[in-house]
Amino acid sequence: MQPGFRRSRAAFGVLAAVALLACGPRTRAAGDTPAASPPAARASASGAERSAPGIAPFAAGASAGPADPAPDPAWAGPAPRTSSGFRNPGMAETEPRWGALLRWQWQRLLSGLPRDVPGGWHPAVLQPDLEPFRARRPEPRIVWLGHDTFLLAVGGTLVMTDPQLSERAGPLSFIGPRRRVPVPVAVGALPHVDIVVISHDHYDHLDRATVLGLNAQAGGPPLFLVPLGAGAWMRGQGIGNVRELDWWDSVNARGLKVVFVPARHFSGRTPFAVNRSLWGGWIVDHPTFRFYFAGDTGYGPLFREIGRRFAPIDLAAIPIGSYEPRWFMSPMHVDPEEAVRIHLDVGARRSVGMHWGTFQLTDEALDEPPKALARALAAARLPAGAFFTMGFGEVRQFAPRPAAPVASGAAEREAR
Ligand SMILES: [Zn+2]
Repeated sequence: MQPGFRRSRAAFGVLAAVALLACGPRTRAAGDTPAASPPAARASASGAERSAPGIAPFAAGASAGPADPAPDPAWAGPAPRTSSGFRNPGMAETEPRWGALLRWQWQRLLSGLPRDVPGGWHPAVLQPDLEPFRARRPEPRIVWLGHDTFLLAVGGTLVMTDPQLSERAGPLSFIGPRRRVPVPVAVGALPHVDIVVISHDHYDHLDRATVLGLNAQAGGPPLFLVPLGAGAWMRGQGIGNVRELDWWDSVNARGLKVVFVPARHFSGRTPFAVNRSLWGGWIVDHPTFRFYFAGDTGYGPLFREIGRRFAPIDLAAIPIGSYEPRWFMSPMHVDPEEAVRIHLDVGARRSVGMHWGTFQLTDEALDEPPKALARALAAARLPAGAFFTMGFGEVRQFAPRPAAPVASGAAEREAR
């Protein structure tokens, strides 16, 4: 590692960590108070529909989840409210863990963490062939552009997840963790994107320059689907084509049904505005292909609930990086072993690892997550192909399953 880089990392380390990780959930034994004031009403006002519990959208062909058929009431409803925003079920108000954050940063300084890749991190970056995306070919296809940024094409509609194609994951162009792998495609070179889904507002998931670039794309802005409470920030950037969703809310657009589902995480772009907007994952559902994007999350019973409603899932994108040290990270970031449990819980036919190799946010080396994933798959006696990782800029095509008839009206109910 270059000395300059280590110095600048030391200088920005605490700041970046504050921005990204300062406020992980802390469990308190005190009684869980029910929702206070509801930013919830906005979701209904936006016209979002709520999925009926127990019945998957595009229901024909969907079966019960693989693990526990019993509903988990804690995660089965809208996100719990606090006086200022949201919290994870089973936890009281989320508060900053300043002491733990400082302890982690101090340990990093003393131990020379994060770990480096011996010889440096120089993965191949492929120049993806985006022509099939541009041509809107109907078969399911994805390209990984690093971290949590995928472009998915299904049924001729293009969906992008957590677009982040900037040099840093931070509030300004010179603050925040630096990208460690070049972007395979600049935002201006993308085909026209129809729908953008945002998991939460942390800088490595909601990047101002990238969403502005998408909003200015030729042919008109995409539809931005964001967690409840995140719409104001989007509109403040001049982005108007935005819908906010609560957990289990859905919208129908461009032949897809898109559902916001729970995750165990937190939000905030500054230490002073924590958990004011929601966090979660997304189901992108087409009669021939069901895709699940998990966002950032710790492990919990929520995944069985997602599996109960949406299994089988044709492809799940699950985070496998940013997990060490476990004593600090486990409430908010799964490790590869837990990622494999999510793969099983949600009933994924196959999964792809994300949130690794692009920004060094935590202590493990940039190349470690796929190795740990391989060990976790072997321990679970799963074939390597069941849960794979992709190269930067790599494209994969999938066989669509036979189209299931859409159960109009029977599988969902309108929001009241
Ligand atoms: Zn996050």
